[in-house]
Amino acid sequence: MALTGIQIFKLLPKTNCKECGVPTCLAFAMNLAAGKAELSSCPYVSEEAKAQLSEASAPPIRPLAIGSGENVVKIGGETVLFRHEKTFVNKPGFAILISDTMPESEIEGRLKRFKELRYERVGLILRPEMIALKNESGDSGKFEPLVKKAKSETDAALILMSENVEALAAGVKISADRVPLIYAATESNWEVLANLAKEHHCPLGIKANSLENLSQISDKLIEAGLKDIVLDPGSRTLGKAFEDEVAIRRSALLQKNRSLGFPTITFPCEMTDDPMKEALIAATFVAKYAGIIVLSDFQGESLFPLLVERLNIYTDPQRPMMMEQGIYPIGNPNEDSPVLVTVNFSLTYFIVSGEIESSRIPSWLLVMDTEGLSVLTAWAAGKFVGDAIGTFIKKSGIAEKVKHRQVIIPGAVSVVSGDLEEELGPEWKVKIGPREAAHLTAFLKMGG
Ligand code: SF4
Repeated sequence: MALTGIQIFKLLPKTNCKECGVPTCLAFAMNLAAGKAELSSCPYVSEEAKAQLSEASAPPIRPLAIGSGENVVKIGGETVLFRHEKTFVNKPGFAILISDTMPESEIEGRLKRFKELRYERVGLILRPEMIALKNESGDSGKFEPLVKKAKSETDAALILMSENVEALAAGVKISADRVPLIYAATESNWEVLANLAKEHHCPLGIKANSLENLSQISDKLIEAGLKDIVLDPGSRTLGKAFEDEVAIRRSALLQKNRSLGFPTITFPCEMTDDPMKEALIAATFVAKYAGIIVLSDFQGESLFPLLVERLNIYTDPQRPMMMEQGIYPIGNPNEDSPVLVTVNFSLTYFIVSGEIESSRIPSWLLVMDTEGLSVLTAWAAGKFVGDAIGTFIKKSGIAEKVKHRQVIIPGAVSVVSGDLEEELGPEWKVKIGPREAAHLTAFLKMGG
């Protein structure tokens, strides 16, 4: 059981030195109990107290990793019920299902889609990370080549799915260095699979037939010394699976229930035959609260919106996505190329730079640090105003890269042009760009 704030307080030094960032040891203890502080923030906790406090300071949902190399899927580690409270930490992994009963051409097609369906957005590569390999044949002889193929041809984090313990053992042997998820321990096989998971240091999924059954199997695995567990309550309708996801998260966070303090796996692929409905079900579990989402197949039209939804939900709402302040050359500009200035909100940068690229007019884009605020918000906050922009342009070094002295500002902040000209001095000319980035291409083509 997790410790209460008062129990934690008794183990702290009680000097109220404030080095942990809060005024008293009691306040720190309360934060620790609520999962809002890290034990390491107090440098004075004794080793003995540390051992006792480790349980209380652990995240209520255990973080774990599946996969290896650059494509490690981290799941769990969540500390809040709602994204606006803090942030969601580890985005769910998307898996494509491949069965060993599928024809070779279908397997090839799915592996190809896994490798090719990737998208660049706001400077990030959005991609699925996982392949769920299903031993539907029940035959180890058919499962092993499939595991070998998926492992050698992709960097996927693998999920090995079988009701046949021998097939799972054979699959793990082939792919242990890839740290696959073994799926799934049940009432009847949990002991053998716990040993297999421990021997190969792999996480183990549980497939139960109710939340109660899930807790019971989880307790047995914890007792057997297993740490990395993934939960599947077995529900296969949207309503029940959603209810279970919420119940697991609430139980882990609010009741500090260690039996259910693990990430979950969901199977929209087993909830409907309609690809559109499957995408909608998956979208529900991106928001609440899956660790892994297994889809029957990947198609661009449904995968891309899911990847974007995941990006949006798992972006920290308290930290805007920002670019580094600096000079960004677009399309090999020279000393005669136009100079534009904008803010460092990532989305603004990517829209503006995309429009400049489309114009095929090589340009210098000056990106000013406005703490990730967009153009109008930064202007309203006094961060993207004439004197500040002028100071930035003078210090940016752009004067050494171009021989002209003209800068184009976003039309939405035309009001700053006077102050900016004053700050830059008579040498410089400020030109008002279009109000909308969408009109930038035409603006540049017409000579800026
Ligand atoms: S750093 Fe440790 S000793 Fe100091 S106030 Fe915080 S909890 Fe107390």
